[in-house]
Amino acid sequence: MTDSITTATLQDWITRFGAAVAEKRDWLTELDSAIGDADHGANMTRGMSAVAEKLSGGAPATADELLKSVGMTLVSSVGGASGPLYGTFFLRTGMTAGAVTELDAVGLAAALRAGFEGVVARGKAEAGDKTMFDAMSPAVDALDAAIAGGGDLVEASKAAAVAAANGRDATLPLVARKGRASYLGERSAGHLDPGAASTALLFETLAAAIAES
Ligand code: ADP
Ligand code: MG
Repeated sequence: MTDSITTATLQDWITRFGAAVAEKRDWLTELDSAIGDADHGANMTRGMSAVAEKLSGGAPATADELLKSVGMTLVSSVGGASGPLYGTFFLRTGMTAGAVTELDAVGLAAALRAGFEGVVARGKAEAGDKTMFDAMSPAVDALDAAIAGGGDLVEASKAAAVAAANGRDATLPLVARKGRASYLGERSAGHLDPGAASTALLFETLAAAIAES
């Protein structure tokens, strides 16, 4: 029964997310070349490399210090829409997590929901707009539902990862209503949203970090 996540595991999540976007860089770029400007792989890789460099200077002791540092680094190192959006996600997740060295399941779910709400406040996306919202919203919902149902953090984060991946896949037929892809109108249908694809990696790596903690 895993019922809490430490700052070290949160840092492992960030490291894994950085490795995942680097590994999937070409795929993320390919997705963005179909409905955007072919820079999502480069944006995410640049941002997460800057984060890795920042964190190599020493591990922050608390969840808020760690996550706020990740958020600020993403905002300052990524020019595309995804920088401020992921940056806000991590900043708000960190603010809600607070100056703690460990979060229980309810605390982690509340922090991630605040991060998601930050993305919504910043980007104004709604369900079905074909954005990262469509992977993130079902992920935080699944996390809450699994915890409410008595699941531990391993099960709950796995459920969130599955929900995010399903949300990513469900963007395929959608017509984009936010971001660059919206300029394509109907022609955006038939392609996965790149931001939803990176968000699925975000929750997949969270589940992996928790499972292996
Ligand atoms: P840019 O669109 O500036 O080139 P990226 O290619 O890095 O930036 O990121 C594109 C992704 O950002 C999209 O696939 C989408 O998921 C996400 N996105 C864009 N605008 C919004 C928004 N207003 N709200 C939520 N997500 C958005
Ligand atoms: Mg782009």
